[in-house]
Amino acid sequence: MAYFQSQHVPGRHFLHVPGPSNVPDRVLRAIDNAAMDHRSADFGRLGRQILASVKLIFQTEQPVIIYPSSGTGAWEAALVNTLSPGDAVLMCRTGAFANLWQEMALRLGLEPRMIETDWRRGADVPAIAAALAEDHSHKIKAVCVVHNETSTGCATDIAAVRRAMDQAGHPALLMVDAISSVGSMEYRHDEWGVDVTICGSQKGMMLPPGLGFNAISQKALKQTESARLPRSYWDWRAMLEINANGFFPYTPAINLLYGLNEAIKMMQEEGLANVFARHDRHAEATRRAVRAWGLETQCADPRAYSSSVTTVRVPEGHSADALRAVILEKFNMSLGTGLGLIKDRAFRIGHLGDLGDLQILGVLGGVEMGLRAAGVPHKAGGVQAAMDHLAGNA
Ligand SMILES: *Cc1c(COP(=O)(O)O)cnc(C)c1O
Repeated sequence: MAYFQSQHVPGRHFLHVPGPSNVPDRVLRAIDNAAMDHRSADFGRLGRQILASVKLIFQTEQPVIIYPSSGTGAWEAALVNTLSPGDAVLMCRTGAFANLWQEMALRLGLEPRMIETDWRRGADVPAIAAALAEDHSHKIKAVCVVHNETSTGCATDIAAVRRAMDQAGHPALLMVDAISSVGSMEYRHDEWGVDVTICGSQKGMMLPPGLGFNAISQKALKQTESARLPRSYWDWRAMLEINANGFFPYTPAINLLYGLNEAIKMMQEEGLANVFARHDRHAEATRRAVRAWGLETQCADPRAYSSSVTTVRVPEGHSADALRAVILEKFNMSLGTGLGLIKDRAFRIGHLGDLGDLQILGVLGGVEMGLRAAGVPHKAGGVQAAMDHLAGNA
């Protein structure tokens, strides 16, 4: 059961919000060890091992910084280490998280230039290309995009954003929020030419919340020398200097690092390509169920389908939050609420992290029974459609 559930409910709680995700037992057992002296030689060995192996997950050879923070902290770290007050940043409002990142940029004294979308697709790459082409004086210092918009279930083609920047010959940094994709969807920091990748531990990485990540390019690192936004806790330079020996400038989240070490081992044992293929399969099974129910996904562009979260629209006149409440009460499953523009109009199924075929069928069974119990008009057969897909694709 969930730790703070008010009374015992038999069976396992199904935590299917798109983060925090399920923490596998192996990771929980690793975290459940005594803290250690973070200045000891043993810790240095662990730190070096983790800082080296975490690069595999980001598919990078560049440094990856690990903060004791949420993903929001890692967003801030990316901005304050590279930018100066008044710098223009090009952003695309793909959904609620892109929106929050813009608000942060405003509070930090940056000048976001926002490209709007209808929240039903990835970032508008032609519009990004056009904005860069017009920016002859290179006022735009960074292009900031959300790889997997967790509010809508739409992903952006990051390689295409990079190509648009290269074609425009624009020197801006490319910053990517990959908080709900790293560890569950294909993500290539080096190959896609990303300057700063931002991540958090509680989504695709199978960990509890509490670790924030910045994977950084040499170009981004160079920019810290001239960046004038105030920073102290987030400063990459102090971090990298001492990271070289496996240590941290302040107390790291030691037990979460034990968990990260174990989670990376699990991903290596399964093989990253298999991890991504598993998420693709579960996402496809989920969309087939949604279609069979006669419902619609929020993502209207098949090229942008997310493999870690599916946002499902409820029919006009029905409440997604009422449906979620019925599902929680009757079937002990938590689904994600609709955020921002689609509050109460949609619910989100998180299918990321540690998840097998029978779990995803349980999730879809809970949604199908919930639709019936809540009186939301739909057709039966979603779970069957998912089983047919999974069985034909084992
Ligand atoms: C969860 C999430 C965030 C915020 O991360 P926190 O850990 O809650 O601070 C930002 N962006 C995306 C895409 C997310 O999924």
